[in-house]
Amino acid sequence: MSFFQSQISLAPSFDGTSDRMSLSHCPSGEIHVIVGPMFAGKTTALLRRIKSEGKNGRNVAMIKSSKDTRYAVDSVVTHDGTKFPCWALPNLLSFRKKFGAEAYDELDVIGIDEAQFFDDLYDFCCEAAEHDGKTIIVAGLDGDYLRRSFGSVLDIIPLADTITKLTARCEICGKRAFFTLRKTDETRTELIGGSDVYMPVCRQHYVNGQAIVEAARNVLESRSKV
Ligand SMILES: [Zn+2]
Repeated sequence: MSFFQSQISLAPSFDGTSDRMSLSHCPSGEIHVIVGPMFAGKTTALLRRIKSEGKNGRNVAMIKSSKDTRYAVDSVVTHDGTKFPCWALPNLLSFRKKFGAEAYDELDVIGIDEAQFFDDLYDFCCEAAEHDGKTIIVAGLDGDYLRRSFGSVLDIIPLADTITKLTARCEICGKRAFFTLRKTDETRTELIGGSDVYMPVCRQHYVNGQAIVEAARNVLESRSKV
């Protein structure tokens, strides 16, 4: 008997609840989280995973936020142009109804892109993985341009089976980049943009870059007061 088999055979008698275990509905959902700065390939990693699940015969669906309309509204598009059909929604808990309850029941895997824009991320992940038995793969920014927690992405870390933090290349020195620097003096948290507004940077160039952006803002503000 292998180690794995012996674990299985021990499980029902471990706490004397073999009857309860066989009676209870125990779906084996999973939650996988992919985080990192912009331009780290999070969407690409998510798409690769979703496509490979699809090739393995599993029913897949992709959701992204309807806030992000930089590319096509009904497809997920990576920075390098790869496309995949998806549902663009304002929230996640509306997905089941919009997708259709029967079709939803048939789903095995749900991908969520730009997860930082969904306020109901935590509730949806609990419901879909633990009640409905889905495998959920989430990609999103862990931090905003000020390196503050962004949306609910960090809230689901305690729920996750796996967490992957991807890195980009620092646009200034080429080292590994962990952070997203906003190049403009806009201060809204949710400013959607690409390389015109944001750049991936290493720690050193984040700190230097932030100082430069703040100095530039101060100069502009003092000029506008004159
Ligand atoms: Zn750098």
